[in-house]
Parts: sequence; C-alpha cells; structure tokens
Amino acid sequence: MSLIQVLNLTKTYKISGKKVDVLKDINLTLPESGLVVILGKSGSGKSTLLNIVGGIDNSTSGAVIFSSMKKHSKNSNFEKSFIFQHYHLLENQTALYNIMLPALIRGYDKKFAETQSKELIKLFSLDESVVNKVVRFLSGGEKERIAILRSLITNPRLILADEPTGALDKDNAIKTMNILKNASKKRLVLLVTHNRDLAKQYADRIITLLDGKIIDDQTYKNNKEEVYIDSIQKRRKNHWSINIINHNFKKRIKRNIVSIIGMTISLVFCYLLFGFSTHSNDAINKVSTKHFDYGTGTISKEFRTESDSSITLVKTLRPEENELDDIKTKFPMFEFMANYDAIFNSGELYIGNEVNKEIRNSFIYDFTDKSFDKNLIVSGAINNECSWNDIVVNEKAFNIIQNNDIHYKFSYENKIEQTNSSFIVDYFDVEEKLNIVAVVDELDFLSVPKIYFNYQEIDEIFENKELENLSDKSGKEINWKQYIMEANSYDDITSYSLRCFLVDISKKEKVDELLKYLSNEIKLTNDSLTIKEALASLTLAATVGLDVFLIIALVGSVLILGVFSFSAYNDDKKESSILSCLGAKDSEVVGIFTSESLIVVFLAFLFSTVFSWILQKPINLLLDALLDVPNLIDIPIKSFLGIKGLLPLAVLSISIIVALAFTSIPIFINKKISLKKELTDL
Ligand code: ADP
Ligand code: MG
Repeated sequence: MSLIQVLNLTKTYKISGKKVDVLKDINLTLPESGLVVILGKSGSGKSTLLNIVGGIDNSTSGAVIFSSMKKHSKNSNFEKSFIFQHYHLLENQTALYNIMLPALIRGYDKKFAETQSKELIKLFSLDESVVNKVVRFLSGGEKERIAILRSLITNPRLILADEPTGALDKDNAIKTMNILKNASKKRLVLLVTHNRDLAKQYADRIITLLDGKIIDDQTYKNNKEEVYIDSIQKRRKNHWSINIINHNFKKRIKRNIVSIIGMTISLVFCYLLFGFSTHSNDAINKVSTKHFDYGTGTISKEFRTESDSSITLVKTLRPEENELDDIKTKFPMFEFMANYDAIFNSGELYIGNEVNKEIRNSFIYDFTDKSFDKNLIVSGAINNECSWNDIVVNEKAFNIIQNNDIHYKFSYENKIEQTNSSFIVDYFDVEEKLNIVAVVDELDFLSVPKIYFNYQEIDEIFENKELENLSDKSGKEINWKQYIMEANSYDDITSYSLRCFLVDISKKEKVDELLKYLSNEIKLTNDSLTIKEALASLTLAATVGLDVFLIIALVGSVLILGVFSFSAYNDDKKESSILSCLGAKDSEVVGIFTSESLIVVFLAFLFSTVFSWILQKPINLLLDALLDVPNLIDIPIKSFLGIKGLLPLAVLSISIIVALAFTSIPIFINKKISLKKELTDL
C-alpha cells in the first residue's frame, strides 16, 4: 500500500515577469513507512515539493492524493507534522510545553500530554535537563530534537522534515537522523537534504531532483513493519491557549501597560465629557434658577393688526383687569402691579458726584421672607421695615459702589397739549440717598451690576404722590399710580405692561406653569427666563461641540487599540503560523490575539470607570471654584436612562466590539499570506 500519490505535479513561479517551472510534471508514489529522502542541489525544488505534499503550499497543476481520504492534501484527515530547519518552536515556552502543545491543541488534557511527552523523551533518550528549560536558551541541536519530539507527539502518519540537520554539527546531525530513522519505522518520514552522505547512510529510498525534475529514484530497503497509528481523538475543550496568552501578555508588558494607560486616559475623558454633556444643562439651569429668579417679570398683551401690505404690526398693550381675572384665580401666588418703568428708569444713579450708567435697576416684590431668597445674602441684613430707598445690591454693583454715598434722582415731566400752544404740565421729582441693606451672591460669570428695589415701597410713593395740574383736566383728584394705570396705552407715561411678581419665591416652578398657561396674546417676559433660554442654547452649543470631542476621544482610544492589536499580531505572525501548522484552528489563533486585546480593554475599562468616578468630585470642585456652578459633571455610572449600569455596559461593549474587530480584521486579511511564507527558510 502506498500512503501518498503525487500526480503530474507542476509548480510555476513568475520570476521578474518570466514564468519559471520550479517543479516539472512530478509523479511519485510514496510508501506507508520508511525514511524517504529528497536529495538535490540548492534551488532544485526540494522544499517546494515538500511544502506542496505537506499542504502549506499550492501546486500550479497536478494533485497530491492521500490513501486514507483519496482527497486533496489540504483536506487530508490524518496527522502530519512538520520539522523545519529553523525549528519554529515557541521560543518563550519550555521545551516540554513545546512538545506537549500539539497534543494540547488536539484536546488531550495536560496530564496525558505530559506523560506522552516524557515517554517520547525517554524513548529517544533526550537529556532530561533540557526538558524544563525555556527554548530560547537551548542549543541548535537541542532545539531540533525538541522539534522532532514535538512532531511525534500526535503520532502522525507523515513527518515532513526540511533540512533538519542543515544547521547542525556532525554529532548533532547524527543524533537527529537516528531519531528520525527510528521514527520512520512506524510512519513515513519525508526528508529533504542536499547532503548526499547523510542520505546514503540513513535513507530507505532516495529521490534525486534536478531543476524541478526527478532524475533518479532508488529504493534500498522496503519497510516491512506493520504500521498502526491511533486515530485522532475527538477534540474536547482545552485551555491550552491560556498559557500562550499569558506569555504574550508578559512579553509585551511594557506596551500593554502603555496601551492600558492610553486607553484609560481617553476613556476617562469620554466619561467626563459624557457626564458634562448630559448634566451641564441641568446643573446650569438649577444654578440659574437659584441665582436669577427673583420672581419678577412684566406681563403685556400683544395686539396684531393685519395691514394691506405683508407687514403685520404688533402693538404692545397693557392687559385689562378682566383679562387677568382667571390668571389671578389660578395663580394666586402672583401679584400684578402698575409698571413705573417709564418714570422710575428715567432717573440717574449718582455714586458720589458721578452719574453711573453701568448699574441696572431691578425689582423685588418686597424684602420679606417670602419674596426674597435669604440664602443668597452674603452680607448685610434686611429689616422688615424697609423704605423704597433701602436697596439690595449684587456683588458686582457693590464693587463699583464700594463705600461711596449713592443717590437716586428721577424727575419726570408730563405735558399734555391743551389748545394750540398751551400745555398742562406735571412733575415728579425725587432725590434720595440709597442705603444698601444687603449684598447678594449672584452667578458671577453671568450677572451684571444690579440694584434691587423694594417694589411695594415704590408703589407706595407713586400712590402717595398726587398730581397737581393734570388732575384738573379730568376734573378729579388722582395720584400718579392711578394716572399711570388709567393712561391710554399710547400715552408715553405707560410701559404698556404690568409688573408681575411671584410673591412666594419658594414656588418658582409656577413661573413655568404660568408661561405655559398664558395665551398667545398675553406675554410674560422675565430677565431670568431670558437668561435661562440664552444659557440653554449656550450649553447646547457647548455640549454639541463637546460631543465632537467625545467622538474624537473615542476614536482615539479605538485607534490605540487598533494599533496595539495590529502590532501584536504582526509581532506574532510567525507564532500564529506555527500554531496553525501544529493544528490550531484559525478561530483559536485569532482568539489568542483577541484575548490579549480584551485584557487590555477590560483593564482600561475598569480603571477608567473607577478613575472617572473618583475624579469627577475634584474636577467639579475646581469648576465650581472657577465658574460658581456646582456639580457641573455628573457621570451617570449607576444608572442612565433609567437602566442600571447602562453606561459602563455600553462603554464595555463598544470597547469589546472594537477590540474584536480591530484584532480579527488584520488577522483575516493576513491569512492570505501563506504559512509557507512565514515558515519556510528561504
Ligand atoms: P530547494 O529547497 O531545493 O533549495 P526551493 O524549492 O526552495 O529549492 O526553490 C526552488 C526554486 O524556486 C528556486 O529557484 C527558488 O528561487 C524558487 N522559488 C522558491 N520560492 C519562490 C517564490 N515564492 N517566488 C519565486 N521563486 C521561488
Ligand atoms: Mg530548500
């Protein structure tokens, strides 16, 4: 019986544009056992023939048929092992592990593989001291013998050996040949050499090649021994690769640490950005509500007139009493009062003798507990008995005023044309020294210098001041408050609106409710609402900008991972070729590299989750000190969108998917590079 039939085998290479036949129409029948030597000068095609028979290279035409399967070589089901001139051992593992590895890959357990290996070691009288050494410390002869024992552990029917003695001295060459000769009793050993003496000494048959052709084929001895080889056991799960993953990880420990640090930094950055972009709006909103909403606004009515042209005229009017009735019953916490802006804001603030135009006027319903947030006071004290010239200022205004005297002076003149050139005129004159009773803390980076007046007191001045001349016109005595409230909307004394105060400052949410409740016609405007809206669009713009950075940070960490996996794979291309050659599945080889990346990813994920959680506190404190906004960053690690642990889970899954993709893609792309390229010794 023959083991292998080689039929009309031709191999053609294109060498600098020319087709060269390296093997020309080779026909061979190879026996079940014995040491068959392929002899020939360098370049005669020996290695090419061996590689094609062994299935790590393809022929251009022709076939290799195995007796067991009668199928093409690549799919042959029986065990075959390679022995290379340059050994191709896993250099960082022990000799014993190298010998065991093919058995482990096939699913035998560690104990069985170990006893098998030790038996082989005894059988071929390998020096016991060599066995537990790491391969890279062994001599060439020792390595070659380890490679042979490794090839024998699976009990193969075919051993392919390419110049196994090529790099050895005479003693070692003899030792090696003895082992191979011994092994060939039970199986076919196909051996390539250019050493005629060695071939003649050991070979059962010598096939001589010259320029890709068989020029001689001599059989010296036919092995008669019965060949019995165990069938391959079914593969079981076996964790042989853990040892290799562990070694690879340690081998690249420095680079792995750098990758972990790099990924951790970018993931921390991602977490913090995410915590900012999901929470900043909330944080700023909260702060602005706290600091700005003094519960004051103006309420007015918009009146649209359609004209013939495409322009719509919008007139602002003061809402009538009855129009506010249902609002007043629904929102009793609001107070609607006359608007004195036209008169009051015509005044000027004097600091010493200088007029100041920087400080703005603002109003609070009154300074009592309910309508003023006492928590904001940083200095001073508010009495229940305040007159209109007792004021509250914010820190910016206080810094401008410092310890100077301040006066507020407003004078107003209202003229009404009586007849052609006669007018009735009335005056409102006030000059009063202002007393700062309290300084309040406002969100620094958004506030302007402001003084707050007590509006109830101001209302009282206007109520108490009688009109002297204009009263005559209407025939009854009225005060300025009445005069303003009754003024025609087109009169210049009115601001066409009413002041609206939230009397109970603890019900801030009512401002939003009122806003929603109001019809299209009635409008509520409010400083803090305007600021809130501006802030909302600002933070939106900022977070959109930050989301771009978030993506960049993610891409950055992904790239770190990609470069890492790719270079790990590149480093170990040879090792993975060796493993494939020893019988490891592609998925197992890919698994070794992905596991290494996954360890990096997992550690980076773990560190970044912990660090960002720890870091957010000091960063928030720093931001609070700089911007006056507490808790600007709030990473939703515990729960996000109502789902517990969603964010870390998402980060982990994305990282894992990316790690798997980046690790497997280069491996699958590079699979096209044949084993031969990695393993043959050109
Ligand atoms: P041997 O093992 O007998 O020394 P090889 O089988 O390695 O010879 O090579 C036979 C011929 O094929 C040589 O001339 C070599 O240059 C050529 N050859 C081998 N591999 C390639 C390749 N990948 N591309 C082109 N030529 C090759
Ligand atoms: Mg060769």
